[in-house]
Amino acid sequence: MSEPNDATFDIVILGGGSGGYAAALRAAQLDLSVALIEKGKLGGTCLHNGCIPTKALLHAAEIADQTRESEQFGVKAELVGIDMAGVNSYKDGVVSRLHKGLQGLVSSTKNITLVAGAGKLVGSNVVEVDGKRYTGRNLILASGSYAKSLPGLEVDGERIITSDHALALDRVPSSVIVLGGGVIGVEFASVWKSFGVDVTIVEALPRLVAAEDEESSKALERAFRKRKINFKVGKPFEKVEKTEKGVKLTIQGGETVEAELLLVAVGRGPNTANLGYEEHGVKMDRGYVLTDERLRTSVPNVYAVGDIVPGLQLAHRGFQQGIFVAEEIAGQNPAVIDEVGIPRVTYSDPELASVGLTEAKAKEQYGADKVKTYNYNLGGNGKSQILKTTGFVKVVRVDDGPVVGVHMVGARMGELVGEAQLIYNWEAYPAEVAQLLHAHPTQSEALGEAHMALAGKPLHSHA
Ligand SMILES: Cc1cc2nc3c(=O)[nH]c(=O)nc-3n(C[C@H](O)[C@H](O)[C@H](O)COP(=O)(O)OP(=O)(O)OC[C@H]3O[C@@H](n4cnc5c(N)ncnc54)[C@H](O)[C@@H]3O)c2cc1C
Repeated sequence: MSEPNDATFDIVILGGGSGGYAAALRAAQLDLSVALIEKGKLGGTCLHNGCIPTKALLHAAEIADQTRESEQFGVKAELVGIDMAGVNSYKDGVVSRLHKGLQGLVSSTKNITLVAGAGKLVGSNVVEVDGKRYTGRNLILASGSYAKSLPGLEVDGERIITSDHALALDRVPSSVIVLGGGVIGVEFASVWKSFGVDVTIVEALPRLVAAEDEESSKALERAFRKRKINFKVGKPFEKVEKTEKGVKLTIQGGETVEAELLLVAVGRGPNTANLGYEEHGVKMDRGYVLTDERLRTSVPNVYAVGDIVPGLQLAHRGFQQGIFVAEEIAGQNPAVIDEVGIPRVTYSDPELASVGLTEAKAKEQYGADKVKTYNYNLGGNGKSQILKTTGFVKVVRVDDGPVVGVHMVGARMGELVGEAQLIYNWEAYPAEVAQLLHAHPTQSEALGEAHMALAGKPLHSHA
């Protein structure tokens, strides 16, 4: 018999970040009763320590660059400085408005009971929060991730920091070493450079944003070189020491770099320790929760979504997985999510946006002679000329088959990934896309031009 204090729901969700709250909202629409348990702030990493605040910083950085470069456009303006208090108040304002909106939406949704507090599994379908038990006919694990470090690298929050500390910094440092040239590392490097900081990225892999198509990495590296963002690739970290004024990083082989701050951006680990997952039979691998393609864990009626599930750690993947699991529980038999079809954007200057397979992966999968690519240079795109941005749109197709990858580099390319993901996910052929016009002058024309060229009917380029 249950205690009077206890409650039973169709779904109990542990964690109110992108994955958890999306599942709650969709489940409520489907008339399922939900307990959504959150120990911090609704919205999780993405809203409070991830996507939104970093993109606000990147926008402030863009304004700084535009002011600095205004004379190129015949506009006289002078960049006097960066007022971090002002930048932070703008950034925090955006976060707080979105947070209020989300809180309003969730609390006004019939069927969702928001539970504030830290939860822990105490049975295979029971979560305990402050002594009260929430039983779910189904359970969704959505506890998210944290910024990882490396052995021998102790984050002190002062000189050796993670993205959480970087987002709360009340000053513009004079110099920063960014350890890790993945998405988070290059985004912060980009912001700081625009704010006038001397930046050096140290990356163990042979190129920046190594998960992207090689041509995109090379274009980003060229652009960063031009912006005087220093980077060292293929250089594993060896040790770090604190100096009188900051930090000294030693790279394997003995080379050293010194700076005021070290940002550790070496990836994010799953937040699953001491939550009772393993004790109640949930199969794990190095802290990640293992699921099948329908996001079912090894325990019946227990699902997992978001950053704790191996794969891309992106907010919109969390949303999609949350919606999927809610529909699965409601018996709607949703289509399995194609991880390759999840759009990816790096919001540095320049931006990188992609969906589908890289050229190398497509060749691995289909055979080198079966893959065709076209790289349309933004030099031929009117709007990109107006913006004074450079880069390209590269489309990867299977010979006589659909588009299997789109890779873009340049200012504002993130906005084009919406169309690119439709092309990939609808398995469009270049000839089908080539029939559809793009407004002139927009950067989306570059996407159209690349497809026209692959379809054998280029307009402003040679096939
Ligand atoms: C600096 C940075 C920039 C990023 N930029 C982007 C971007 O531009 N675009 C993008 O798509 N993604 C971005 N991400 C990634 C994105 O933030 C994550 O993929 C996303 O937040 C994952 O959602 P989630 O629901 O799995 O986890 P989270 O958002 O981490 O949410 C998990 C929630 O669970 C709660 N929780 C944990 N344990 C418990 C417990 N025991 N009891 C109750 N509650 C608990 C936490 O408080 C948290 O609110 C970025 C991440 C970082 C760090």
